[in-house]
This record gives sequence, C-alpha cells and structure tokens, in this order.
Amino acid sequence: AQHFLQRIDAHQALGAFVAVDADVTLAQARAADARIAKGNAPALAGVPIAHKDIFVTTDFPTTAGSRMLAGYRSPFDATVVRKLAEAGAVTLGKLSCDEFAMGSANENVAVPAVGSDKAVPVRNPWDTARVPGGSSGGSAAAVAARLAPAATGTDTGGSIRQPASFCGITGIKPTYGRASRYGMVAFASSLDQAGAMGRSAEDCALLLSAMCGPDLDRDSTSIDRPAEDFSLSLNAPLKGLVIGVPLEWISKPADQAAKDMDPTNPGPSAGVSDAFWDAMKVYEDLGATYKFVHLPRTSLSIPVYYILAAAEASSNLSRFDGVKFGHRAKDYRDLADMYGKTREEGFGDEVKRRIMIGTYVLSHGYYDAYYLQAQKVRRMIADDFRQAFQGCDVIAGPVAPTVAWKLGEHGDDPVADYLADIYTLPASLAGLPGMSLPAGFGEAGMPVGLQLIGNYFAEAKLLNAAHRFQ
Ligand code: GLN
Repeated sequence: AQHFLQRIDAHQALGAFVAVDADVTLAQARAADARIAKGNAPALAGVPIAHKDIFVTTDFPTTAGSRMLAGYRSPFDATVVRKLAEAGAVTLGKLSCDEFAMGSANENVAVPAVGSDKAVPVRNPWDTARVPGGSSGGSAAAVAARLAPAATGTDTGGSIRQPASFCGITGIKPTYGRASRYGMVAFASSLDQAGAMGRSAEDCALLLSAMCGPDLDRDSTSIDRPAEDFSLSLNAPLKGLVIGVPLEWISKPADQAAKDMDPTNPGPSAGVSDAFWDAMKVYEDLGATYKFVHLPRTSLSIPVYYILAAAEASSNLSRFDGVKFGHRAKDYRDLADMYGKTREEGFGDEVKRRIMIGTYVLSHGYYDAYYLQAQKVRRMIADDFRQAFQGCDVIAGPVAPTVAWKLGEHGDDPVADYLADIYTLPASLAGLPGMSLPAGFGEAGMPVGLQLIGNYFAEAKLLNAAHRFQ
C-alpha cells in the first residue's frame, strides 16, 4: 500500500485519483496484516485496489465526478465495496470518472483531481496527450500506470471495456445482475453493471469473484445465483472453442464484406483490424476456430442506447434536487427556484444534455415513438445475440473503432463520442458479459484491446479464453 501511495503521489499529473487518504489506507493495510498474521486471511487480504468514484464509500468522499456531489460522504458502503473489503482488499482511494459515468473519454469531469485545485481530464499513461477512454478512465489509467494493481469500474455502455482497450489493460463486465448495483450512483439502471479492471485476466478473475453474488434485498435486479470462483477454470484448454466474428463489425483485411453488410459502420481502423486478426491467429494456434456470425442490428445500438440511457438518466438524476444530499444553490426565491438553480449549478453540460433528451423521449406524445420503439429494438438486439450464440461459444470483435484519441479531439461534438461506442453497446443492451484484453498495438503505437462477449453467465469461459491468450 505504501508503494502504491508513493506512486499515486508521484504521478498526480495523470489526474487518475480524485481522493486519497494515506491514514485510512494504511489503517486498512495494518488490519489486513493482522488477519494474515492470524492465518485465516481471505482471498484478497492486503491487496491494494482503488474504486471508481461512482461507488459510495464511508471511508472516502464520493462525487461521481460531479459538482452536484462535491464534498458528499455516504453513510454506507456500496455492496461491491463491502464485499471487496470483506475479502481483505485495501482501498488506495477513489478514481476519476466521467460525470455520472456519462462519457467515453474521461473529459467530462467536474471535480478536482488529487494534487490539483481544478477539475482535469484523466490522461492516458501511454501518451499523456491522449484520452484514457471512459467513463472508467481513472481506473484504467491507474492500473496501466501501476498506481494500483487493480481497480473497480462500471460499464453501462462500454465504460470498463473501452478504457481497458485504450490503456492496454484487462477489464470485464459481468452478466447484468451478477454484481450488485447497491451503492453505485445510478446512471441507467437497466444497463449499469460493476466489473473488474486489472493487469491480467487472472487478476480480474480474483477481483470479480469477490465482487459478484446475490444481493436480493438491496438490488431488485440482482440475480439469485451463487457467487462463483472465476479463477478455477482459467487454464482449461481452448481446443474446440468456436469464436464467432460478427460480419457487421469487421471484415477480413481488403475484404469489403462488412461494409457491404452495414454501410453505416465504417469499420475499425487498419491498426485495430490488424491487431484483431493477429489475435485470431493466436486463438487458432491455441486450438480454437473462428467463423463469421451476424449481428444485423449493430448500428441501431447507438440510437437505441442513447435513447434508453438518457431516459433512465433523466429519471435517476431527478433525486439531485438540493434537498436530501449534495449541492444546494445559495440564493433562491422559493422551492422551484432552488431546484432550478441547484441543478443549473451542479450538473455539467453532458449531464444536462442527457436529462433533456431523456425527458423528451419519455414525454407524452413522444414516448411511443422513441422510448417504446427503442425498447422493442433492444429486445431484437438481444435476440440477434441468442441466434449468434447457437453457432459459437464466444463472440470476438474490436472494442472501439480506433485507438485512444487526442484530448479535445472530439471538440464540442458529443456524437463523435457516441459513434465510437458501436462495438460495446450491443452486449450492454443484451445484458451479456463482455471483456477487453490487450491484443497489441495500433496507430501511433497505442494499445488495442480485443473484445470477447460471452453468453449469459459465461464469465468463467471469457476469463479462461483471455488467460490462455495472455
Ligand atoms: N460512452 C457511453 C456513455 O457515454 C458509456 C458510458 C458507460 O458505460 N458508463 O453513455
């Protein structure tokens, strides 16, 4: 813990951490030492980790990256935080993220980073002029820069997988409902899922095993399925594994097939594509085979997700009204004025944009045309996966169309960020487990991740496939 606290201090310029407290961390570490000395230490005893600042914690403040929660301290721990503490993990601090997890680059941050007096975007340790991805960009940057051995993240539409890809680490989002959402500041509840980010599939397996399990009294969508030790089958042979490659996602080099299948998807960059096909060769050497499958509604994932996620966000974020917790405007005339000013001051631009879109698509007269329609297409996207999994064991594809882009490169164009989510949104909408593992390097020498998507509850198979690759 001391070693990592020193590294966090030395690399504050990355902007990865938004809260540290050496006294708290070292007290937790000493308690872990005492458990180890007694000889009945749990699995993660003494392992330092850090939490995305979207999980509420009693020992550290929680902001979700928002001015709205600046200075907020939760009276309870998120279930995932509690379970990791019970497994012996030691908390190094809280990690920067996009405000309320809305973003793909960790540029939507409204709270100061440790060592800075103003809000700063997180930087990619491989090239500090580039973004680390988002919204779990602080988690990915911290693990990549060795400021923490592993970290928690959350993934609503790609926020674990895409930053893992951009920062060259491993990250996994389990099946929706496997990890409790209790104490995760809610963005889009039907999509939000906690997961693990680490240097390897093995580390992610250890972390994820401690995070998952039923929490039926506290999370109404928690699945009643016992916790599983995902590390038991890491070494299982891959002989006979059938990998499905969606033809709408990527074509063979110099093959126009994918573009013909889906003219709205320009496909991945040359560097991402090459890394993908190199990875498929590795899998063939390991005894697996690949075949093309179809996910015909891939390009619809973007409008569907950005309607549904915004709708749910507009509802979830109505709790931030200046009454119960968080920021409250100072000067106001009456209750309505207090609500208005509080929300005007407390929320950043992207959050306001989503609240407005979400309110619009849920409003009388537009509900059927947008929200209901999006729900129907969401079901069809899940059905497409069910169809695809009849012919393969796992699905593989890119995580993002490109390597990490430059800070500010997408300027004031939020849609540029949204379009880059094309490969992560489908699994999120279907509630399937997905992960990103380092698959090499692409343009500008930046890391490229390989995405593996499993059928429901196939986390162990994904981690097995990733571990054998590594
Ligand atoms: N980039 C997506 C968004 O902005 C996904 C974010 C997430 O998974 N939390 O909504």
